[in-house]
Amino acid sequence: MAGYTPMMKQYLDIKDEYEDCLLFFRLGDFYELFFEDAKKASKELEITLTSRDGGREERVPMCGVPYHSANTYIARLVKAGYKVAICEQMEDPAQAKGVVRREVVQVITPGTVTDDLMLEEKRNNFLIAVCQNGQTYGLAATDISTGELRYATLTDRNALIDEVAAYEPAEILMDGGTQSEVKQEIERYVSALVHDFEDVRLSSDQARELLEEQFDDVPSSVVENDLAVKTVGSLLLYVKKTQKRALRHLQGITVYEANEYMVLDVYARRNLELTETIRDKKRQGSLLSLLDHTATAMGGRLLKKWLDKPLLNRRGIEERLTAVEALAKDMLLTKDVQEILKGVYDLERLAARIASGTANARDLVALKRSLHMLPQLQKVSGQAGDAFTRLCDFSDLCSDIAEVIDRAIVDEPPVSVKEGGVIRPGFNEELDELLEAKRSGKAWLARLEQKEREATGIKSLKIGYNRVFGYYLEVTKANLHLLPAGRYERKQTLANAERFITPELKEKEALILEAEERAVELEYELFVQLRENVSQQVERLQQVAHSVATLDVLQSLATVSARYGYVRPEMTDGLQLTIKGGRHPVVEQVLDDGAFTPNDTVLNPQKEQIALITGPNMAGKSTYMRQVALIVLMAHIGCFVPATKACIPLVDRIFTRIGAADDLVGGQSTFMVEMLETRHAITQATERSLILLDEIGRGTSTYDGMAIAHAVIEYIHENVKAKTLFSTHYHELTALAEQFERVTNVHARCEEREGELLFLHRIESGRADRSYGIHVAELAGMPKSVIDRARTVLTELESRQQTAASGLDTGEQLSFFLSEDPERAREREIVSELKKWDLLNHTPLETVQFIEKL
Ligand code: ADP
Repeated sequence: MAGYTPMMKQYLDIKDEYEDCLLFFRLGDFYELFFEDAKKASKELEITLTSRDGGREERVPMCGVPYHSANTYIARLVKAGYKVAICEQMEDPAQAKGVVRREVVQVITPGTVTDDLMLEEKRNNFLIAVCQNGQTYGLAATDISTGELRYATLTDRNALIDEVAAYEPAEILMDGGTQSEVKQEIERYVSALVHDFEDVRLSSDQARELLEEQFDDVPSSVVENDLAVKTVGSLLLYVKKTQKRALRHLQGITVYEANEYMVLDVYARRNLELTETIRDKKRQGSLLSLLDHTATAMGGRLLKKWLDKPLLNRRGIEERLTAVEALAKDMLLTKDVQEILKGVYDLERLAARIASGTANARDLVALKRSLHMLPQLQKVSGQAGDAFTRLCDFSDLCSDIAEVIDRAIVDEPPVSVKEGGVIRPGFNEELDELLEAKRSGKAWLARLEQKEREATGIKSLKIGYNRVFGYYLEVTKANLHLLPAGRYERKQTLANAERFITPELKEKEALILEAEERAVELEYELFVQLRENVSQQVERLQQVAHSVATLDVLQSLATVSARYGYVRPEMTDGLQLTIKGGRHPVVEQVLDDGAFTPNDTVLNPQKEQIALITGPNMAGKSTYMRQVALIVLMAHIGCFVPATKACIPLVDRIFTRIGAADDLVGGQSTFMVEMLETRHAITQATERSLILLDEIGRGTSTYDGMAIAHAVIEYIHENVKAKTLFSTHYHELTALAEQFERVTNVHARCEEREGELLFLHRIESGRADRSYGIHVAELAGMPKSVIDRARTVLTELESRQQTAASGLDTGEQLSFFLSEDPERAREREIVSELKKWDLLNHTPLETVQFIEKL
């Protein structure tokens, strides 16, 4: 450090502690960045890189942003994945001896932002910590902008990755002990800032202490579990280190188990387009965006949680369905609910800001206005029936909180809480007196002005104020001669006027300014005190926020259900799935009214366990498979479903292997991804699961692919017993229905009319009678000569297949293999003839001749 100026030394000392952050170093009205930080930030923010004398020969690279607009710059850096440390001046530079004292007051990282500018309204911003202990993983997740904190222990790596992906976190802290493959896999599926705990590693005693310090009541399932203590403790320490302020709004720890909910792994989430579309990763076009008619940000966030974690207990589901039904039947009431909800601000985030001491007076007024809406919500939810009383608890309307805010804060306060104008007259006697003194001082000034005008005869004489000279009397140059000598002390000369003071004016000025200054100070004190009082009530606010959010989600589901003609699914404890007139909720909306063809589905473990779906491309196979999965899923979150009737059994997991959109994830080959997803499905599914497999085996050669498809179906049939929809191009596979009793054939019906192929999108029983591939090729505008040639080849192949098949043993099960392999068919024939040869009744010569002939 030799040679650096004292300020530069101070900078370097602080930077040393925040090496992994961009350090925003406050210098007067700017935040400055130096050295490498300056280079990175200037590039990222497109601002000029300059330099500054740092005491040494070479100048120090520097860039800066004005402090009042710093937030937008910080937001951009954090969005780009940087951490930003804010270093403030901790004393008044005018009074400081030597270098002004500076300290880092907050570190802003993608997972710890609280500024509205950096948050999306309807999205939680999760920070996750993961610790590993052997094969088990601890996962703690928090959103500090709302105050929730959840913990789960996961028993294997897949479960961990699925769970992490479900949170769509902004930032992940990883225990140094976590295997690097796990890290890599997480990074492949989640676009978050992932880093090691680095300096936040702590012993279990320290972690335990930290938890006890933060929470009044730590659940025993955490206390007794070292992994949980360590994971939550590390998360908490990181939050403390970055926030450096009160964390009162972090609620207790909610401990849950991943298998309390339907498991939706990363593949299913993506393939079913639950929260974003596969192709362009947009929310628009996803199931979430279809279902989202929430009126508040809290409701929007809760809806996503419901979708991420479908329930697995029937009572919970029925309770939601009953509530949705009540609202769906009374759309006028639902409209009312919506209107009232529109007047409710984001209570969760307001409560969090109040608790962390960053709320301003406008936040408090927003809170008050929101609380004023609660009695109406209580009333309408009461009208909607019993189900609501259990799901949405409006027994505490927090009216006392609204009242204290109303008494203290004016209706339209300014943004700043440090410049007065915040507290209502009549709230505090001392403040009223000060304001009165200020007012009467001003009146006195007006009278003085009048008096001086009369005394001097100068009509244009006026009293003014500026920061440097305080109050003064101003006289234009033309009138100066009218001013008597003596009493007036000259203070300032302007181009065409002079400013004077008098002892009388100075005396009053002191009183007025003092009153003013003290009033502003007192207003701030009163405001902070009020905010502190309200923050003591943060748990009550969070409770009521949750009720509002729940009501909002229920009205959203009811709105969708009524608008699109969905029906209440009947949830059953059995295993049979029956859907009548089922539709794909999203595709249906994209098509014209009535253009979507509804389809039925029956799946059960006794007879119709595996449905093999054949039909040409574009016939509607994958739409059908997805629609079944979506209907099952919607039922489990408590929503009505697009069908005329649906009996839905509890489904513990939905597995999917669909489509090719993601086929080059992480550099793996198409076929490898296909096999990974299929393995994932068949090794983890139970008889309560639903499996969708689309065109398995397509990624490799025909025989290979068919063999794998065959083996997979057999495995599911014999070992897994899960309900399965399996679409395939291989018509030969349809023979499996005869071999396995619980495999059935269905097909997407098409018709040929006047040489054109008509897709009916109707799923009917039985196999598709022939391949329409050539028609599709024709529709695609393939040259006529190619089409004609394909027709000829097809006819040839088909006739060869028939000859081969007719020469076979009727018991031969792998018939489809032989159909295109006459040599092997011949071998079998030979073996069979040899077996029939009656050795004892022929001479050795006859036998040799027979073999010769064969
Ligand atoms: P496949 O999987 O058989 O290739 P898709 O399921 O991708 O076919 O469907 C192709 C297109 O057909 C879809 O994009 C959709 O527009 C339309 N479609 C599918 N199912 C239906 C249906 N039941 N009713 C109306 N149109 C449908």
